[in-house]
Amino acid sequence: MIDKPSIYGLLPEELEVFCKEQGQPVFRAKQIFDWLYGKRVSSFDEMKNLPAPFRDQLVKHFGSQPLEETSSLRREAPCRNAVAFQTLEKLETKGEKGETQKLLFQLSDQELIETVIIPAPRRGTNTICISAQVGCRFGCAFCASGQKGVIRNLTAGEIVGQVMEAAKELGERPNNVVFMGIGEPFDNYDAVMKSVRILNHPAGLNIGARKITVSTCGVVPGIERFAEEGLQVELSVSLHAPDEQTRSSIMPVNETWPMTELMDACAVYTEKTNRIITFEYTLIKDINDSVEQAHELVQLLRRFPCRVNLIPLSPVEEFDGECPESETMQAFFQTLENAHINTTLRDSKGSKLKAACGQLRSRRLD
Ligand code: SF4
Repeated sequence: MIDKPSIYGLLPEELEVFCKEQGQPVFRAKQIFDWLYGKRVSSFDEMKNLPAPFRDQLVKHFGSQPLEETSSLRREAPCRNAVAFQTLEKLETKGEKGETQKLLFQLSDQELIETVIIPAPRRGTNTICISAQVGCRFGCAFCASGQKGVIRNLTAGEIVGQVMEAAKELGERPNNVVFMGIGEPFDNYDAVMKSVRILNHPAGLNIGARKITVSTCGVVPGIERFAEEGLQVELSVSLHAPDEQTRSSIMPVNETWPMTELMDACAVYTEKTNRIITFEYTLIKDINDSVEQAHELVQLLRRFPCRVNLIPLSPVEEFDGECPESETMQAFFQTLENAHINTTLRDSKGSKLKAACGQLRSRRLD
C-alpha cells in the first residue's frame, strides 16, 4: 500500500508550509519543484542544493518516485524504467516515430491504470491521456474501463505521476494533457482539480490551462462545479447519442443525469465561462450513426457554440457493437458540417494497437 504521500501531489504553497515546519526557508520549495519538474529527478538524494538533514526529512515524509513500486512485481515483470511505476506492458507499432504508445502501470497497491502518449510529430506536439480512477463506476457499454466497476480514486500525486512518467518516456515536457483515460474525472473531483493546478503551475510542468482537457460522461454536478473554478481548462462531454433513449441504452449515466439536464448544465457552463465545449460522439453501427440522428444532434447542439469530435468505435470484447462503414460516418460528418457545427472525424488510434480505453487493463485482469 502507499505508505507515504507522493511529493507530486503537493502544490508549491503546501511544500512551503512543510519547509517552514522543518525550519527551512520557503525558497526550498521552489528548489524542490525545480528538481522535480525542471530537472525531472526522482530521488531526494540528487537534490544537491538542499541540506542533507532536510533531504532526510523529505525522504521520511514523502515518496519521490511518481508512484511507489513493488519489488515483487519487478521480478515478475522486469521494467524498462528503474523508477516509479512498473511498466508492465507497452504496445508500440514497430518503433515508428509518432505512433501512439499505451502504457499499463502497476500502482503500489498493485492496482492497474493506463496512460497513453499520442505524439503529433508534424505539429511538434505530444498529448498525454491520463487516468483519474482505478476502474470506473459508469459502465458505458462500449468502454472496457467501466466493465468491472470502480476500485478507487487516484490521488493527485498518482495523476501527476502519470504525466511525469510520460515526460520521462518522451524525454521532454508534454504539451497537452487530456483526462480521457480510465475513470470519470468528476467522480474524483478534488484530486483531479488539484492535479490540474499542479500541472498548470509555473513552478511545475507549466502546462497551459488551455492545453489541459477534462472529459466527463455527463456528471452534471461536476460540470456545475467546474463552471465556478475560474480556470481556462477545456471541457469535453461524452454525448454519444442525440436522444434520451439511445443514450440510456449505451450510457447508464443518462438514467441519473438525463440528457435534458446535461444540456442545460452545458448551456449554463458556456454562458458562465464563455468557453466552448467539445462533445465526443462515438459512432456505432446501427445505433447512433444515421443521418436522421445527425439531424437530431444538430437540433440538440443549436443552443450554444460547440465542437463535435466524431470517433469511430474501437471494438471491445464485452460489447458487440461495430464501427460503421466509412461512407456512413462521412454522411454523419457532412450533416453536422452543413449545419455549420465545427466537427472532426477522428481516427481511433488506440484501436490499431488493440488498446482502446481500458483494454490493456481489462486484458490483464482477465
Ligand atoms: S467511457 Fe469514461 S465514463 Fe464511460 S465507462 Fe469508460 S471511463 Fe467510465
